[in-house]
Amino acid sequence: MLKLSPEVLVCGAGCAGLGAALAAARQGASTLLVERAPFAGGIITCAGLPYFDGIARKQDNRIVVRGIALELLTELGVAKMSDTHVARHNAPIHSVERFKLVADRLLTAEPKLQTLFHAFAVDVGRRGDRISHVVVATKAGLLRIEPKVVIDSTGDADVAARAEVPLDASKEYMPMSMHFRIGNVRQHPELRRLAREATTAGHQEGLYQSYYGPGLSFFFADDEAYVHAVRVTADATDPLDLTRAEMQGRHDAYAMWEVWKKRVPGFENSYFISSGPYLGIRESRRIVGEYVLTEHDIKDQKSFDDAVATGCWYLDLHPSYATAGTANVAPGALGGLDGFQPDHYDIPYRSLLARKVSNLLVAGRCHSATRMAASSTRVTVTAMAMGQAAGAAAAFCCAKGKTPQEIHGRDVRDILDRQHAGPFRGENAS
Ligand SMILES: Cc1cc2nc3c(=O)[nH]c(=O)nc-3n(C[C@H](O)[C@H](O)[C@H](O)COP(=O)(O)OP(=O)(O)OC[C@H]3O[C@@H](n4cnc5c(N)ncnc54)[C@H](O)[C@@H]3O)c2cc1C
Repeated sequence: MLKLSPEVLVCGAGCAGLGAALAAARQGASTLLVERAPFAGGIITCAGLPYFDGIARKQDNRIVVRGIALELLTELGVAKMSDTHVARHNAPIHSVERFKLVADRLLTAEPKLQTLFHAFAVDVGRRGDRISHVVVATKAGLLRIEPKVVIDSTGDADVAARAEVPLDASKEYMPMSMHFRIGNVRQHPELRRLAREATTAGHQEGLYQSYYGPGLSFFFADDEAYVHAVRVTADATDPLDLTRAEMQGRHDAYAMWEVWKKRVPGFENSYFISSGPYLGIRESRRIVGEYVLTEHDIKDQKSFDDAVATGCWYLDLHPSYATAGTANVAPGALGGLDGFQPDHYDIPYRSLLARKVSNLLVAGRCHSATRMAASSTRVTVTAMAMGQAAGAAAAFCCAKGKTPQEIHGRDVRDILDRQHAGPFRGENAS
């Protein structure tokens, strides 16, 4: 088996992983980033999601996360590094294809960073309390990676689960969604209402399993609808269930569009551009780390002396299902079962720290938080901020010859501060 020994291994190049890999490499650690897809970006490119939720406070569009998230928005022409506010609090981007190119350019610009696409982290070896190696499946066979520090940014805590760290025991998951795009749509004031009525009718006729909204957005072009409407229930960590869900999601997306094309004026000349390419997974495994962030911390705006990132999204929990794959719950309902909208809040370093394994950090939607807290921390920019913090921490550990367990979040925050990243510092911060 081919062996590689980077200082830092980042598994998953989604929102968190992109931030983690760039941060670690820029700080001088030799870094390997492995991603199962042929591009970086996670939900942004795997499902086509344009939103940078978590970049700014809802009430006044004040930027609360800078660093790599703001750099990406700057590269995409949506903001500038010197901005203190964005035009819309969720700062939608206008091209997912351009995002892929920007990510490729940033990744290849780092001499200390090597990226492997089509590379799936599948197994872990442990020696005592350390991960000794991670096995990555590629077209050339299995690779054995022996890093000093591992960052799990797979969204599903794949590495943490293989390393047998404590995981949240809940089997209750938010539904997944297959996003899709429809071309040649004629917008008019009644479009959304008519689409909603037709969607409800199609569901009652049994044409698709579930739905919500439909949210029709026109960010990519005036005649192109980008749609969040399909809801599928499954356990993303069960390969058979996930395969069934991908097929169900594709089927339901197409069936929904057929209903609109036949019944909704404005869709009569439309065509189906694409779905996916991957089903969007809102929730699966989370670690139970050194600190479990709770909704009370978010509601009380609790400050932590080891804060390394800032969140500001609302408690956005979609209706869940007691057992994955069971019948619909509340078809048509949107998310926000609690709906609490924080101003902004701290995310502590210890919520990225796995228990029982000394060289593992976990960033993104699988970090250590309750279900309700994670319904806010899971959004794209908050995941990027956690990733950047994990990457900075991992590089610092390598430079100091320490493990992530042996350093303090304050040291990580000092590094992030020097990079104009890290937690929000208040109104007078640039
Ligand atoms: C349907 C849907 C709609 C959403 N809507 C919004 C929204 O409007 N705004 C918003 O901000 N957020 C939204 N979210 C939430 C948000 O997008 C995600 O929670 C966020 O992307 C989390 O970032 P992440 O890096 O943890 O995970 P991801 O971005 O999912 O990245 C995980 C990456 O790891 C890769 N990977 C997985 N397993 C492995 C492995 N074993 N080996 C190698 N690579 C692996 C994946 O391919 C992926 O690239 C939505 C999520 C979903 C599912």
